[in-house]
Amino acid sequence: MTERALSATVRVPAKVNVFLAVRGRRPDGYHELVTILQTVGIHDRVRVRASPGLRARHPSHQRASVHFGHDGVTGVPDDHQNLCVMAAHHILADLGIDPVEAGDGVPRVDVRLDKDIPVAAGMAGGSADAAATLLAVNAVLDGGRNREHIQSLAADLGSDVPFCVSGGTALATGTGTATAQVLCRGTFHWVIGMSDEPLRTPAVYEAWDHETPPLEMQPDQVLQAVRTGDPELLGDSLHNDLQVAAFRLRPELADAVDAFLVDGALGSIVSGSGPTVVALAADAAHAHDLAARARERFDRVEVTTSPAGGPSLHRD
Ligand code: ATP
Repeated sequence: MTERALSATVRVPAKVNVFLAVRGRRPDGYHELVTILQTVGIHDRVRVRASPGLRARHPSHQRASVHFGHDGVTGVPDDHQNLCVMAAHHILADLGIDPVEAGDGVPRVDVRLDKDIPVAAGMAGGSADAAATLLAVNAVLDGGRNREHIQSLAADLGSDVPFCVSGGTALATGTGTATAQVLCRGTFHWVIGMSDEPLRTPAVYEAWDHETPPLEMQPDQVLQAVRTGDPELLGDSLHNDLQVAAFRLRPELADAVDAFLVDGALGSIVSGSGPTVVALAADAAHAHDLAARARERFDRVEVTTSPAGGPSLHRD
């Protein structure tokens, strides 16, 4: 009997930062953060398929080549620089399978990415894809690695990747890799205003380095707002230290935030390093109303809710 190739698809949500404070630049160039992240209902899909017979915990020496493809979205690397490929190599090595070049008789791991999360938009798209790949490869190869272990692998790949493994609502510190789940009651309604023109995260941090150091903002009010499910309080306490740097690089983002506030949003903020601008609404009808007014100011506008749960895995 021939063994059937196994495959799995992970659907993974984007994030917004409802609070982001930069505590300073470290000697190694990374920045110390305190941030509260929530998943929102915009998703990528990562499908992983492995050659028959390729399994973690196989008694004999294993090797595999990683093959990557995506749906043609602009700005996503096709090769080993894609976070999906990096994540696949990382977990293969962890499972005792050598990632090697393709060749005759070399088992394959095929990774296919379908993107809906905008690229370089401050919504952790690449990090979400990396997290999804770790989870999918672990499932397909029967790796048996638990969430905690996957999160430690995730921390090697980038600051938002551990959060993307679990999703929901979390407080992240350090460079963003140390995460703790935060209690969140209720559902928040958002309008997400997206731009087709990306903003590179390193450029935003570089611009932040030239700004006056901010006051040491604390996340207490935001934590209370999510804990009690209070949209007015959350709207009042949304905060992002990087926003001033994003405004310096893209002054029209300041106008976009102001326009949401003039239209009656409970709060509006740049998400992460931008250029995505999010606005908090009182309820779904209010969100649709704000979105209708915002359409001409953005390349894409979505109405969604948070928290949007975590990645979901389906065996195909
Ligand atoms: P963050 O919010 O975590 O700062 P972001 O949403 O601003 O991230 P990403 O969409 O993750 O940005 O893309 C950042 C860069 O990562 C892109 O310019 C792209 O070249 C690279 N990249 C690598 N892999 C991926 C991927 N799977 N999807 C998107 N970008 C990727």
